[in-house]
Amino acid sequence: MSAPMAAASVGLAELGFVEAAPAWRLRSEQFPSKVGGRPAWLGAAGLPGPARLACALCGRPLAFLLQLYAPLPGRADAFHRGLFLFCCRTPPCCAGLRVFRNQLPRRNDFYAYEPPSEDPPPETGESVYVDNFLGEAPEEELDSMAKHESREDRIFRKFKTKISLEPEQILRYGRGLAPIWISGENSPQEKDIPDCPCGAKRIFEFQVMPHLLNYLKADSLGRSVDWGVLAIFTCAESCGLGTGYTEEFVWKQDLTDAP
Ligand SMILES: [Zn+2]
Ligand SMILES: [Zn+2]
Repeated sequence: MSAPMAAASVGLAELGFVEAAPAWRLRSEQFPSKVGGRPAWLGAAGLPGPARLACALCGRPLAFLLQLYAPLPGRADAFHRGLFLFCCRTPPCCAGLRVFRNQLPRRNDFYAYEPPSEDPPPETGESVYVDNFLGEAPEEELDSMAKHESREDRIFRKFKTKISLEPEQILRYGRGLAPIWISGENSPQEKDIPDCPCGAKRIFEFQVMPHLLNYLKADSLGRSVDWGVLAIFTCAESCGLGTGYTEEFVWKQDLTDAP
């Protein structure tokens, strides 16, 4: 459903799942989190134009992948807050990724002060996909470590173990937590995550899981798109650089010869 997420403040990630939702639920005024279709932008000012919605690697237009409604409790200027993730689906590139952040105070030019109605409008639309945030991730299983296991095997096994508790998860949200990597190779060092232009560090906010690919492959969104983990890092201050959309940072980790 498109209900706002609670904050992940107790050290456990929140998981996102895909489920069908009526079209009205996915409109901007419902503050949805959703996968595919067109972005339901938050603020209508300073929308990213074609240049920002082009692949940084090949220059072709990016495809909308998903958006997340992720307000920051206690931050009046981020009462509403959305993250919008785009990916390149143009072969042979299929590698570029860009993410944008927008935030608004409760009193703003675009939305009512009061929360949107939970009632469906008279006309009902078709079903499309939406994330459903079902609360906290289950406690980690304590898994016994096999002897003579390589570091790579261990990282992949840990990843599989965590995922196996909720195999349908397509997203893990945990601002300030650590991402779960699928591989020991090509995980970023601190210096690989660029600071926000405001000067603040960027911190991990959410990751997209490979399971989402199962939905995309059945869809028109590129059969060549692939990843192991997409980790999104955002400004630790969630700064307000103007009223528009601030670009944040995506780290793509591919799955390398898994055991
Ligand atoms: Zn590209
Ligand atoms: Zn910043």
